[in-house]
Formats: sequence, structure tokens, C-alpha cells
Amino acid sequence: MAVKTLEEYVESLRKLKPTAYMFGEKLENVVDNPRIRGGINATGATYELANSEKYRDLFTTVSPFTGERINRFTLPPQSIEDLVCRVKINRTLGNHVGTCHQRCTGLDCMSALSIVTYDIDKKFGTPYYGRFLEFLKHMQRNDFTANASVTDVKGDRSLSPHEQADKDLYLRVVEKQKDGIIVRGAKVHQTGSLSSHELIVLPTRAMGKGDEDYAVAFAVPADTKGVIHVVGRNTLDTREIEGVDCGNSRYSKYCPTVIYDDVFVPRERVFMCGEIEFSGELVNRFSAFHRQSHGGCKSGKIDVMTGAALAMMDYNGSAKVSHLREKIVDMIYRAETLYGCSLAASYEGRKEPSGTYFINSVLANASKIHEGREMAEVIRLMVDIAGGYVADLPSDRDFKNPEISGLLKKYLKGTAEAPVEHRVQMLRLVEKLAMESADTVSDLHGGGSPQAHRLTILRESDLNKRKNIAKRLAGIE
Ligand SMILES: Cc1cc2nc3c(=O)[nH]c(=O)nc-3n(C[C@H](O)[C@H](O)[C@H](O)COP(=O)(O)OP(=O)(O)OC[C@H]3O[C@@H](n4cnc5c(N)ncnc54)[C@H](O)[C@@H]3O)c2cc1C
Repeated sequence: MAVKTLEEYVESLRKLKPTAYMFGEKLENVVDNPRIRGGINATGATYELANSEKYRDLFTTVSPFTGERINRFTLPPQSIEDLVCRVKINRTLGNHVGTCHQRCTGLDCMSALSIVTYDIDKKFGTPYYGRFLEFLKHMQRNDFTANASVTDVKGDRSLSPHEQADKDLYLRVVEKQKDGIIVRGAKVHQTGSLSSHELIVLPTRAMGKGDEDYAVAFAVPADTKGVIHVVGRNTLDTREIEGVDCGNSRYSKYCPTVIYDDVFVPRERVFMCGEIEFSGELVNRFSAFHRQSHGGCKSGKIDVMTGAALAMMDYNGSAKVSHLREKIVDMIYRAETLYGCSLAASYEGRKEPSGTYFINSVLANASKIHEGREMAEVIRLMVDIAGGYVADLPSDRDFKNPEISGLLKKYLKGTAEAPVEHRVQMLRLVEKLAMESADTVSDLHGGGSPQAHRLTILRESDLNKRKNIAKRLAGIE
């Protein structure tokens, strides 16, 4: 069986020696760094639950490629059931970690590659699909996590990759050698790159003539020579380092900038190299899968926010207040609409020539647009219900300081029955759910900006069909 336990996952990360920087310093031990560890714990939940009695059947399956039982996070969907499981697993994880679990992006890359490498080979007779399958089996046998290295820094947004003043603003091939390629560039917002064993690089956009060096896809271990991870700031990051006032102290998210400083990629790890016609196709497939993934995990996060709001109503003595109960309904139906849209994208999926199942992209993008708008609304509702202390609750350290602890506990108490500590802990969780920037900004930009979702809907919806049904009813031939 190729399913790793949580402990085995953490130990396997210790064997990697990535080059990483944070807050101006080089990190020698990323696994035990409290800022990174919150992310590793969140991804670790995908291992933990796969080994639990309750979720084993949902999280694991038998691979048609290796014949072994594997974690579903290493399997491109092979059926409608697999597509549906993706959503259910993501919702379960959203409930469990209350933030991004950070393992879906790698699967979304593998799912896209499992379709597009096959299509490229069919058109050009290239060897990419076979190489990709070997990589996939390596991921499955080792139960590895992969990150999605998709978003380039992009420089001047009005220019294509080869038109940029600095040619490295989109990752590109700078040299072709007999046994591989050398690549240079930087990928940004790299969710969980240091919790990952492998980095999967895809182009970030469609490419045109002149962009051949930029139409490149490959995978390299996260500690490959020349790969530099620079961990970004987050609103609550120093609290994790200090070990106080975290709300949800076990799980969090981080998204480094990852620089590829003349990195060698062996030929057998190159899955696309110069085929500009397929660059847009690859990123579109990835994005569609990823937008479907969001529908699962974010509906799971709304469940947590709803639970936190309900608990605050209990602690505040407002559990029976009718306008607050109405707001709970407003939260729940938004979660269910998101989940339903993501499930519908799965049920309306179809088999591609390679055998991988692809979701209904219009439904997945509709789900993502809904998320971008409605997660902000759900946060607003949660904060409305919880009250203003979400903004300026005294520190845990003040609650422990004997000079003021008694006074704080006296004055911050809600109902007589509820322990004041519970009210304070829940307020802190609400703060984290509302303000963990790495997660809340991804509601909007994760998987592409909102305009990218809209453009996909416009491109992939049958507008003529709609026009014709209206014309027929109006009696127009
Ligand atoms: C928390 C978080 C996690 C993420 N995780 C990952 C990850 O794991 N892997 C990964 O690869 N990426 C990841 N992303 C990146 C994400 O996909 C991008 O943020 C998103 O695609 C938008 O790109 P950008 O941030 O460069 O913004 P920009 O592209 O600069 O967009 C800013 C605005 O300008 C508009 N715009 C830009 N260019 C044009 C144009 N030419 N014409 C018209 N409008 C334009 C956009 O629509 C948008 O409204 C993550 C992002 C966030 C915030």
C-alpha cells in the first residue's frame, strides 16, 4: 500500500533540503519552522484522514496505473465518481483545517497534464504522455505532494512573454542540452511549495508565435539546485512564530515566491517544450480543475465560519435573535450553492481521449465566480454576528498576566454559563477565519483573477443556442 501516514509524510519532508528564505534570513529547518509547519500540518491532514477509519474509503482508491491503494490526491480522475470524490474530500478537509489544505493544486496540475500531454503527443508524435505517466507512478508509489508552479511574475501585463523588456519575467527555457533543459524565471504565490516534494511547472497563459521558449511544462523536486523559495508575509504570520494569538494554531497557509535560477530539468521530466498551440489548453484545463476544487474546500470553510458564528451567538446570549438566525441561513445557503455548483461540474464531466475525466468547465467557473463574491459576504456575516471584538481582542498573554487576567476574564464574559475562555478562543478563531490573508485573498485570485473566470464562461458557453431558443419563442426564424 502506497498511502503514507502523517508521520511518514513529515519525515519524508525532512529528507529534502530546499533553499528557503523568510523575513530576511535563510531557513535551515523548514519542517519545524512554526510559520511553515502550520502549512505542513494542513497538507498533513490529507495524509491523516486517508488513514482514519472514518475517511479511508473516501480518501483512498486503487490506482489503475500501479495496482496499489493510493491517496486520491495522486490520481487524475478516471470516472465521474472520482470527480465527485474530489469535491467531497475538499469539503471534508475545509471542515477539518478551516483554511487551505494546499494539496489540491498539485493534483489539478497532474490532472491537466494527464489530458494535454496525450493530446500533444497525438498531434506531434512527442513522448510527453509516457514521461508523465512515469512521473505519476512515482508520485503515487511515494504518496508525494506536488505544488502548482503556474503564475509567472508577468511584468508588463500588456505585453506577451517574448515582448517583455526583461525576457525572464515569464519562466522560459534558456538552454537545451542533450539530456535536459535549463530554465529561468520566477513563479509567485506558490501555495505550500515547502510542504511539497515536487514542483510542477505549467505555463501561466496562452502563448503565440515568438513565445516558444515559454511554452514549457515540467516537474522537479522542491529542493532542486537553483530553486529558491522566498516565504511571503501574511497578516497573522508573526503570531505563529511567537506562538500566541493564533486562533487556529495548528493549521495555516503560506505562499512563497519561487525563483528558478538556471535550473536543470532532466529530459524525462519535461512534459511540454515549445508547443505553443497547447499552452492555453494546459493552463485552461488546470484552472478549470482548480476552480472545481475550490468549490469543495471553500464550502467546507463556510461550514467552519457558520459554526463559529453559531458558537458566538451561544456565548453572547444571542442564539435566539431572529435577524442573526436569518444571517446563519444566508451563510449556509451560500456554502450549499458553492458545493452544489462544484458537484454539478463533476456530474456533468466527460471522458477525454487519454482516459482522464474532465469537469464541466462552465459550471466550475460559475462556482469560482460565486466564491469570489460570496466568501466576502460570508465573512461579513460572520463578523456581524460575532461582534466587534474580532478586531481588537486583548492578547492571550494579557489573559495570562496575573495583574490584569482577573479583570479581563470578568469583563469579557458573555452568558453566565459559557466559560469566558471559550468565548475568547472562538473570537480569535473568527479573527483568523476572517483575516488570514493568504487564504481570504485566494477566494478572489486563487485559480486566476475573477475576469479570467468570466472570460472562460463567455468562451465556453453556447451563446448561439441561447439566442436561438429565445428567437424560436419570439417567433423569429
Ligand atoms: C492566496 C493565493 C494563492 C495562490 N496560489 C497559487 C499557486 O499555488 N500556484 C500558482 O501558480 N498561483 C497561485 N496563485 C496565483 C493566482 O492564480 C494569481 O494571483 C491570479 O492568477 C492573478 O494573477 P496576479 O496576482 O498576477 O494578478 P494580475 O494578473 O496582475 O491581475 C490583477 C488584475 O488585473 C487584471 N489584468 C491583468 N492583466 C490583464 C490583461 N492583460 N488584460 C486585462 N486585465 C488584466 C486581472 O483580471 C485582475 O483583475 C495564488 C494567488 C493567491 C492570492
